[in-house]
Amino acid sequence: MEISKKREKPVPVKKELVPGVVLGLPSLGKDYEGEAHENRFHMRAPSVAEVEFFAELTPENYENSLTEILRALIASPQIDPSMLTDGDRTFLYLWVRAQIHPSYHLTVTCRMCGKVHPEYPYQISSIPLKPVPAGYEGPKTLTLPISGEKASFRMRRGADEDAVSVLKEAGVKKFTAVNCVTLHRVGDETFERDPFAKAEWFRSLAVGDAMHVHELNKWLQHGPEFSACPFVCPTCNRESKFVLPFRPEFFFPTVPFRGVFGDAVDGSDPESGVGGSEHEGAGGDGDSEVPVVEDASV
Ligand SMILES: [Zn+2]
Repeated sequence: MEISKKREKPVPVKKELVPGVVLGLPSLGKDYEGEAHENRFHMRAPSVAEVEFFAELTPENYENSLTEILRALIASPQIDPSMLTDGDRTFLYLWVRAQIHPSYHLTVTCRMCGKVHPEYPYQISSIPLKPVPAGYEGPKTLTLPISGEKASFRMRRGADEDAVSVLKEAGVKKFTAVNCVTLHRVGDETFERDPFAKAEWFRSLAVGDAMHVHELNKWLQHGPEFSACPFVCPTCNRESKFVLPFRPEFFFPTVPFRGVFGDAVDGSDPESGVGGSEHEGAGGDGDSEVPVVEDASV
């Protein structure tokens, strides 16, 4: 039979063809509205076309491309990726990565018996998640201990990274820049639009009050804990933890990419993960897993 290059009728291409899933987020949705606030976050599973796009990530384009993939896959509600909390955004990157290729090959050294396991296929779903602390229900109001002023703060978002960069370029010191951007409201006034106004306010604080804000920002940290990945050694069967390096190459096909899509690209192995992470994060136990919480149609 001869195959016609002419389409007889158009193939329907609709987002609805790929079913959606509902995820629970490490932020528990507390800074979002609608269903997301109830910690029901809708994502669409990646299509073949998106997997192909993913396979073309390079060190030069990955940051924007990952954001675009997230933008395409966030099904409902329409939350812009830059408005996701830091912890949720990282979680969703991992989720997308796990949909396409659920394991990450790296060298893991057992802390108990010293055995080196090269090319160990670590399951992304085993990366622990730290949820936002119980008691956070949306922007948190503090009464500053020295000034007595009331100010509220929210979790850190993707867009705050840009604000921090702008502030630092303008000469604002790092401690002020990273701690002021989560300011939501002082008294009755909302400060979301102007990072310079936030920085000015923060710099006017007594040092004791500023440290109080710093502690709150630390308390609000949530998301995947790359520094505390559980590992059961295949040699000695004992449990330990290791640091998974969350570097850009985590997403690249040059990391041996043994999925069904595309060819495995020859490339250097990812460096040993043990102790090599630049990711800062407190250790601790998480008990959630990365992928899907429940199925649902979108
Ligand atoms: Zn061992």
